[in-house]
Amino acid sequence: MTTDPVASRLPPPASRLLTFSFELFPPRTPEGVAKLPLVVGQLAEVRPDYFSVTYGAGGSNQDGTYETVVRVVEQTGVEAAPHLTCVGSTRASIAALLERYREAGVRRIVALRGDLPATAMSASAPGEFHYANELVSFIRETHGDAFEIEVAAYPEMHPQASGPEQDFEHFRRKVEAGADGALTQLFYNADAYLDFVDRCGRAGLDIPVVPGIMPITGYQNIVRFCSSCGADLPRWVRLRLEELQDNKPALLDFGLDVATRLCERLLQAGAPGLHFYTINQAEPTLRLWRNLGLPVTVPAPAMAG
Ligand code: FAD
Repeated sequence: MTTDPVASRLPPPASRLLTFSFELFPPRTPEGVAKLPLVVGQLAEVRPDYFSVTYGAGGSNQDGTYETVVRVVEQTGVEAAPHLTCVGSTRASIAALLERYREAGVRRIVALRGDLPATAMSASAPGEFHYANELVSFIRETHGDAFEIEVAAYPEMHPQASGPEQDFEHFRRKVEAGADGALTQLFYNADAYLDFVDRCGRAGLDIPVVPGIMPITGYQNIVRFCSSCGADLPRWVRLRLEELQDNKPALLDFGLDVATRLCERLLQAGAPGLHFYTINQAEPTLRLWRNLGLPVTVPAPAMAG
């Protein structure tokens, strides 16, 4: 008999380890900077496997990512993985950043292409990298296995891809270039994820593909997130959220139910963990965490000095 509340819901694969990670972004306002340690402290109490810190999204800069990674590790003792985007960068600038991360003790990188400004979206984009597989190859060439490399996966297809098959072939290139694992774009359609994982299996791509989970905290913001990344928000969910948008407690309860059912289905089907898009808020992710019956009272390790 198991006492682990998650394991009791899972099929019984032999010795499976689940990986749970929390994504943050570098705060961009003085208020955000002041609030982040509290948020990180609360999230760290459940001892995720690691935090990840975005780069470039919404105009954040390289220093913001570096500083946030270092601060999170100092504050919590939990591993932190920087996201690293390559488009528009030179090999020299990426090499310098990798050195800086390595010296800081970073052991995991989320390797991405990133988005070009709309005005520069063309094959003649500046820089020496064009796609994320080139970044993965570069990290492997220059640092061997010193970093664990996560890449992005799109169960519902990357919005700029010409088709699902081609997009999948491009994902395969990232795996063949040396990715250790993948984190998916947010989605609310479990079948899209399960189909993607099936395709990985058939293609012999044997890496964990961890679902990206966005807790639902508002109607407008979830519609915006889904539309910007091409995720399907099921009609029934959208309609219920729209109806509840002026009743925040009811909306949060409904959103929690939707996200909980999604996560339970994914874990029951064998997902290797969950990557939570926290949007720098502790409570929505922790509410979902508790509702899933994930462990909440793991003692924190003693912190150095
Ligand atoms: P790629 O895998 O390179 O794919 C990009 C597009 O190009 C796809 O349409 C693909 O099909 C196509 N493609 C790939 N290779 C080729 C090829 N050889 N020839 C032709 N087409 C090709 N963005 C940020 O700016 N900062 C972040 O911190 C950040 N974090 C993210 C974290 C996660 C988990 C996810 C899922 C996304 C994140 N993003 C972030 C967004 C991401 O940068 C964008 O979605 C970007 O447009 C694609 O990045 P990628 O690494 O998936 O690119």
